[in-house]
Amino acid sequence: MHILLLFLDGIGLGDDDPAVNPFAVADTPTLFDLAGGHRWLRKTGLQESDRAIFIPTDPRMNVPGRPQSASGQATILTGTNIPQIIGEHYGPKPNEAIRSILAEDNFFKRVVARGEQAALLDAYPPRLLHDFERGKTLRSSIQQAAYESGQRLFSTQDLIARNALIAEWTGDAWHKHLGITEIPLLTPYEAGQLMVELSRKYAFALHSHWMTDLVGHRGPFERGVELLELFDGVMTGVLDTWDDDEGLIIITSDHGNMEEIGNRKHTENDVPTVIIGNARHTFAEGFNTLADIVPRMESLLFD
Ligand SMILES: [Zn+2]
Repeated sequence: MHILLLFLDGIGLGDDDPAVNPFAVADTPTLFDLAGGHRWLRKTGLQESDRAIFIPTDPRMNVPGRPQSASGQATILTGTNIPQIIGEHYGPKPNEAIRSILAEDNFFKRVVARGEQAALLDAYPPRLLHDFERGKTLRSSIQQAAYESGQRLFSTQDLIARNALIAEWTGDAWHKHLGITEIPLLTPYEAGQLMVELSRKYAFALHSHWMTDLVGHRGPFERGVELLELFDGVMTGVLDTWDDDEGLIIITSDHGNMEEIGNRKHTENDVPTVIIGNARHTFAEGFNTLADIVPRMESLLFD
C-alpha cells in the first residue's frame, strides 16, 4: 500500500457565488465526479461516489482566528492540533515553535524511520533552492517536513529526469515565467500520469500546489478558474493511471482562500478532503479535522 497526498494551498468550501468563487463556475467534470456529481461548495456536504469520499474538513480546530498555512500544513503532517499547541494560527512560513515540532516528528520522518521511502514530489528553481540553503528564505511547513526527513529537495535536474513535477504540474510556468526551458512540457493529463507513476516509488508521496493561495490573495478571478480546470485535467490523468487497490490518494488543503476572491484574507471555511481508493471507508470513519489525516495514514501503511 502507498499514499499520494495532493495538497492545494488555500482552497475552502464557499458560497455558490459565481462573482467571487471560481469553484462555482469552473468546468471541472472530474472534480464533480469526485464529489458525487457536485461542485466543491459549502452546500455540497459529505459525498460518496464510485471511487471517492468527499469530506468537508475543519481547519479551525477550536482555535480562534483565521487558519494559516504554516500551522495548517504542520497539522496535516503531524496529526497534532498545532494551532492549539502554539496558541494561534500562524503563517505563512513556520516560526521557531513549528519548526522544532516538525524537526521532532512529522509523517515524512515517520515513514523514513520505518525504513520506507517518502518524498515531496515538487522540484524548485535553482535560486529558491539556493536561498533555502543560505537561510535567506524559510521553507514552508511542507518543505521543512520533507527536509527534516533527510530529503534533498528536487531540482531542475530531477524534472529533466522526470523524477519530479513543478508545483503547477505541467512545466509551462517555468518555461514562460522563469525562462527554464530545458524541463519537459507535459499536458495536465500527462502530469497526472507521471505523478501516480512517481508516487509508486514511495510509501508516502506528497505534491504541493500553492498558486491557488496566491490567486486567493491577489486574484484575478479568471486565473482561479484556470487553475481549477488545469487541476481537473491533472486529476483525469491521475484517476486513469491509479489502481484503487494500490493505496490511497488524499486531496486536501490548509485553509480557505481562493473560494472568496476579492476578500484578500484567508477564510474560516471548511476545506475539502477527498479520499480515493478501496481503503477510503476506513479512512473516512470519524474524519473531521486536519489533525485526523496522519493517524489514518499511519494505520493504512503500518498496521
Ligand atoms: Zn496556505
